[in-house]
Amino acid sequence: PKTENQLLVIFGASGDLTARKLVPALYKLYKDDHLPEHFVVLGVARSFMTDEQFRNRVALESKYLDDSEAFIEAFSEKLFYEDLHKKYDVSYRELNERIQNLNTVYQCNNNFIFYLSTPPSLFEAIAKNLTAEGLNDERLGWKRLIVEKPFGYSLDTAKALNEGLHRYFKESQIYRIDHYLGKETVQNILVTRFANSVFEPLWNRDYIDHIEITNAESGGVESRGGYYDKSGALRDMFQSHLLQLVALIVMEPPLSADPEEIRNEKLKALKSLRMMTDPEVLERDTIRGQYLSSMIDGERVNGYREEEDVDPDSITETYAAVKFFVDNWRWADVPFYVRTAKRMPTKVTEVVIHFKSPHHQIFKNSNINKDNKLIIRIQPDEGILLKFGVKVPGQGFKVERGNLDFYYSGLGDSHIMEAYERLLLDAMQGDATLYARADEVEAAWRFTDPILNYWKSPKAKVYGYSAGVWGPEHANELIEGTHEWRNPGRN
Ligand code: NAP
Repeated sequence: PKTENQLLVIFGASGDLTARKLVPALYKLYKDDHLPEHFVVLGVARSFMTDEQFRNRVALESKYLDDSEAFIEAFSEKLFYEDLHKKYDVSYRELNERIQNLNTVYQCNNNFIFYLSTPPSLFEAIAKNLTAEGLNDERLGWKRLIVEKPFGYSLDTAKALNEGLHRYFKESQIYRIDHYLGKETVQNILVTRFANSVFEPLWNRDYIDHIEITNAESGGVESRGGYYDKSGALRDMFQSHLLQLVALIVMEPPLSADPEEIRNEKLKALKSLRMMTDPEVLERDTIRGQYLSSMIDGERVNGYREEEDVDPDSITETYAAVKFFVDNWRWADVPFYVRTAKRMPTKVTEVVIHFKSPHHQIFKNSNINKDNKLIIRIQPDEGILLKFGVKVPGQGFKVERGNLDFYYSGLGDSHIMEAYERLLLDAMQGDATLYARADEVEAAWRFTDPILNYWKSPKAKVYGYSAGVWGPEHANELIEGTHEWRNPGRN
């Protein structure tokens, strides 16, 4: 698709995300010749900076230094900056004048994207101020709004935010970013399922025993203690990224790859998650934990409650595991186990589809764990691994596990776009497939809210776990029975 001439306005341009992710992603798009002929970026925040100071602030890291100075300079000349001051109405009028001026000089055809990379409490106010200046008006060119996460804090706040934004922008103009959807392997779930004939016929309760999703980080909360303590693992990862993954695994085949068709099916999938409202079920099927101070490689690491800006009595979870079911024809009775945590032994995100064992075992005493597994590695080493039984050469029928392993990095010189690169380019082209729609976000919150509410109660336990292990011991009971967690890197 064609990328039309346009102007990108980034609110919160003096912040961390702009320098660390957005500008490098734009540079990469520039380098790979994906930017339109006429394209400029206007950074906006309250801090005062000149264009030159902004360019220096977001100056690219050394990894781009191989490129010629003239080339980097030509990119840098596309970046501009405008500060907002205390008098907001005057400020926005001046901002509009600057936008109109850049639009005319650089021939952006009145196509504007507003990227809101500010604290979410400002999203609605910015949309309102833009509207007061007529900057949502699409008569002369399109206008799009990209909003960063977190999108709401609960179902009610997400609804209020949707309503707030819809007062000023149409849903078709709003792009809610979920950078997980920008990852190649996440999109590849759709291709694996719907472009092959070998997986989809098995993709149901008849052949799948259970599904496991692990998102593990080896680090702690680092410098984000203040933010994290108000959020926690369930809000930070589960409600957004992990439920989006679940939706892609669970959804029915869409009619086509049209963004609305895909998002309609994802919505249906999210709506079919069995709500967990019974306190007994919540107690049995959800587990939260906090990392404790421990020794890692001879060094003592802080426990969560000792981290900077974290309440010493905090009950916020750094580990969350949830077992749930999907109430529809395809998935009835198939358990889903999803966990996300910090201070794990390694950094990894993967989906494991555990297939059922053959219903009649011919090869007795085979030394493999019998189930076939399809492992979708989201990070690191993006790729897909299929584990299946193979005969050990020699007498008799001894069965071992064989691996069919596909790595994206093995695809020769194909470049894996960074999530932000891919998502920015999609929004620039008006493709919302990888952005979450209002109703999807609300459906994900509707499922998450009862768990969060249960966890507010003093009855809900918080388990401790040592940094560097796979979470609280108690989490094994959640998955107990015929299976156990697959701890990546081990089996
Ligand atoms: P940050 O470093 O705190 O930056 C926030 C920015 O907002 C600052 O540039 C601040 O600059 C600006 N700002 C504050 N009030 C403003 C206003 N009224 N109008 C315009 N700008 C205003 O945060 P960040 O890490 O860049 O993250 C930005 C957003 O992305 C947040 O919503 C965050 O939740 C989300 N996010 C960040 C990450 C990440 O990795 N950093 C990941 C996912 C999501 P001034 O003080 O100069 O106005």
